[in-house]
Amino acid sequence: MLNLILFGPPGSGKGTQAIKIAEAYDLIHISTGDLFRYEMGNNTPLGLKAKEFISQGALVPDEITIGMLANKLDHHLDANGFILDGFPRTIPQAEALDELFASRGWSIDLLLALEVSEDEIVSRILKRGETSGRSDDQDESIIRNRIREYEAKTAPLFAFYQEKGKASTLNGIGSIEVIFEGLCDLIEQHQS
Ligand code: AMP
Repeated sequence: MLNLILFGPPGSGKGTQAIKIAEAYDLIHISTGDLFRYEMGNNTPLGLKAKEFISQGALVPDEITIGMLANKLDHHLDANGFILDGFPRTIPQAEALDELFASRGWSIDLLLALEVSEDEIVSRILKRGETSGRSDDQDESIIRNRIREYEAKTAPLFAFYQEKGKASTLNGIGSIEVIFEGLCDLIEQHQS
């Protein structure tokens, strides 16, 4: 198996790159943001609960998010591997992920972090908001809140994986293709 985490602030290009990596390495792409948007679009109880947090730019509580991820993993027990995009976002989520994977006989191979400055992120997200239909992409104060959540709760996860020798970083500014090649190089270095 090959199990990857694509890491970085909102708007760093995780979704775009995760789709390309999933295709190149035949992995299942799981984006918790996409899963929440699907639930919200269908007005499910989980979607309605998640909306309270997402609309404010806050993280959805761990127990909701972890349960949703566990359910998704169980639909892909025969996968070649996974690329997780937007999960984990807190230390308790990372600990839960370790347990969820260990209980299935799996483990995380590598976290790939995309580095992008805050100003670049805000302008990218506002631009995406012109077409994404996402209300959390259209309001600068909500975007700044998402970045604050990232800095406070998610950024410390890099050290969590680095201590295990499982983290690599890449400059996230540049063309989609160049960044994709850089990510593939990091994956292949890790495999060799
Ligand atoms: P994203 O599409 O990854 O930018 O996620 C959009 C929003 O969904 C985030 O701002 C959070 O409110 C919520 N979300 C997505 N993934 C998680 C997660 N792992 N933990 C908590 N909230 C999440």
